[in-house]
Amino acid sequence: MTTPPNRTPQRVRHELRRRQLTVVGTHKISDHMVRITIGGPELEGFSSPGFDDHIKVFFADNAMRDYTPGRFDAQALTLELDFALHDAGPATTWAAQAQAGQPVSIGGPRGSFIVPTDFDGHLLVGDDTALPAIRRRLAELPAGAPTLVLVEVNGPQDELTFDTAAHATVVWVHRQDQAPGSALLARLPTLALPAGDIYAWVACEYSAAKALRAHLVDSRGVQKQWIKAASYWRKGSADSHEKIED
Ligand SMILES: Cc1cc2nc3c(=O)[nH]c(=O)nc-3n(C[C@H](O)[C@H](O)[C@H](O)COP(=O)(O)OP(=O)(O)OC[C@H]3O[C@@H](n4cnc5c(N)ncnc54)[C@H](O)[C@@H]3O)c2cc1C
Repeated sequence: MTTPPNRTPQRVRHELRRRQLTVVGTHKISDHMVRITIGGPELEGFSSPGFDDHIKVFFADNAMRDYTPGRFDAQALTLELDFALHDAGPATTWAAQAQAGQPVSIGGPRGSFIVPTDFDGHLLVGDDTALPAIRRRLAELPAGAPTLVLVEVNGPQDELTFDTAAHATVVWVHRQDQAPGSALLARLPTLALPAGDIYAWVACEYSAAKALRAHLVDSRGVQKQWIKAASYWRKGSADSHEKIED
């Protein structure tokens, strides 16, 4: 008798801590994305087991925004954060001027949602803001796992490369200053999804995330318990984060 696959996501709570850190370095990784490495002794004990975890990054006047923890080096006590640069907002303004030596503080992650990898296939859909989580998921997926990745960035100069052992097909689409998510919405219906039971993960602008989830559930047979769709930002509204459900 074979054991059924474990497909139940697990929630993990973490002690909420605010950490005072310093910018260690910055590095432009694409036209509209800057990688900022932050670090300091207060990163001791930092833990982020979920690929789509988020931390709060605090800026001037205590404004805070959500970012996905990237590579954590427990020896050097450094953490990488990738900031998508857009028109305006405390986070994007801070990221564009960040320099080594500047103070920065973070809080969290408060909790992690651990999605098992034991599915027949995986679908990852998102825009620039989802790239750090997509990078983490691709790094943890098992060797050979059939995976379709659909990412919208503004143009070819915003594309990145990923390290993965999964059998991943990465499709890039370009917004070219059109409505956020419009290129994802146009392309997804034309793509064949991995066969069998898939886990679908979607993160991008609110209206697009809603429409993409509806398409996957209503027209592509993705099961509701195996889809996680989130609004990582909302056009015209600051600091927006919503889980998209029915
Ligand atoms: C769980 C989670 C994880 C996230 N991880 C990351 C991450 O790792 N990297 C990352 O870059 N972002 C990430 N985001 C998105 C980020 O938190 C938002 O884009 C945030 O609004 C940016 O703050 P801001 O101060 O620059 O702009 P805000 O002050 O929040 O907004 C100002 C204006 O800019 C618009 N805006 C906000 N974000 C964008 C955008 N990306 N493109 C175009 N217009 C925008 C808003 O609609 C508003 O009109 C994440 C969001 C969530 C919820």
